[in-house]
Amino acid sequence: MLFSDLHLSSPLLKAVQEEGYTHPTPVQEKAIPYILQGRDMLAGAQTGTGKTAGFTLPILELLSKQPRMKGKNPIRVLILTPTRELAAQVGESVKTYGKYLPFKSTVIFGGVGINPQIQALRNGVDILIATPGRLLDHLSQGTLDLKHIDIFVLDEADRMLDMGFIKDIRRVIALLPSKRQNLLFSATYSDDIKKLCESILKNPAIVEVAKRNTSSELVNQRVIIVDCKRKTALLGELIKKHRWEQILVFTRTKHHANKVSDYLNKIGISASAIHGNKSQGARTKALADFKAGSITVLAATDIAARGLDIDQLPHVINLELPNISEDYVHRIGRTGRAGNNGEAISLVCVDEFEYLKNIEKLINRKFEREIVEGFEPDLTIKPEPIQQGRGQRPQGQPKRRDNAPREYVEKRRERNR
Ligand code: AMP
Repeated sequence: MLFSDLHLSSPLLKAVQEEGYTHPTPVQEKAIPYILQGRDMLAGAQTGTGKTAGFTLPILELLSKQPRMKGKNPIRVLILTPTRELAAQVGESVKTYGKYLPFKSTVIFGGVGINPQIQALRNGVDILIATPGRLLDHLSQGTLDLKHIDIFVLDEADRMLDMGFIKDIRRVIALLPSKRQNLLFSATYSDDIKKLCESILKNPAIVEVAKRNTSSELVNQRVIIVDCKRKTALLGELIKKHRWEQILVFTRTKHHANKVSDYLNKIGISASAIHGNKSQGARTKALADFKAGSITVLAATDIAARGLDIDQLPHVINLELPNISEDYVHRIGRTGRAGNNGEAISLVCVDEFEYLKNIEKLINRKFEREIVEGFEPDLTIKPEPIQQGRGQRPQGQPKRRDNAPREYVEKRRERNR
């Protein structure tokens, strides 16, 4: 199938062509016709499948078919994303694909000044991309209203729930007009997601591209067994030996992301850390440097890395395995994207054997355990419990009830992202 078979108008086809896309990806092929029909949709698609263009292109097409109101035009499309980085990336996609159309879009998220956002909203916006916390701030200040929303997109809904946004989402939905088109994207289907879908979507078209909880076939996944204390040294060694460039390294905690970045810089490999304690400016700069190739390694926590759009990322290294198995699937989704091959290597120590088993169970695949010469694991070491980063809990343990006041919890959550 070609893009020209999808009934998109020429300003969109021109923008797509300029991006160098020749054929729609599977999610685009399936989702675009349903969205153009005005149907609600549930799409099971991970980052890296081309899902952003999959909803942005038909939304722009639908908007271009409706007459714009004279004077101050109301917001007609709301796209909610879990993280600031994802909001920024979706915002960029809307601008890229809509560059030959007259629509205005803006991105609003926390951690940056609210006044420029208020000004942008005053100037009129057709498409609003937002994270829930800041959107609610604007709504409570009366700086925007959602009364004219025609299309509502919930991107990475599973991650929204993981991050505790369910109440915020419901507060936002209560402010939307009841007649609207709803599009929900989620990489996984938990019972909570099913419940959310039932409450939001009306007779949805179902689009499923990557099979549930199976990891991308384009990714060559490997497991190396090594002692915990020697992981960072092995990482440095592997990078130098193979002359790797552009490596995304995952750690479980912010502290470890900083530590690995400091170590690599010390041994002459340029690296930056990206996590919730860094200012928005520092995160944007680290990502831009990484994309431009001026730093070799980006060390990230799961939440910070969620939704990062980095083209053709060749290497993902799990310096530490995630305690939540689904996060493994999200992590390796950074590589082997939209048709490019990638490699995901997990450095696993004795403390993490349980995590590894859970991941293997989830993706229904058993990995060969590799050993690197000079880094042979000491088999006499006994496993020790793993310290989790803040906000994480070991699998299978019940959620701790948080009795802090709601406003405080929200502020803390915003800070920790
Ligand atoms: P997404 O899943 O939306 O994060 O997109 C993943 C990557 O695929 C982005 O870098 C897009 O620029 C790219 N992409 C989207 N659609 C296509 C396409 N039809 N052909 C090639 N690359 C694409």
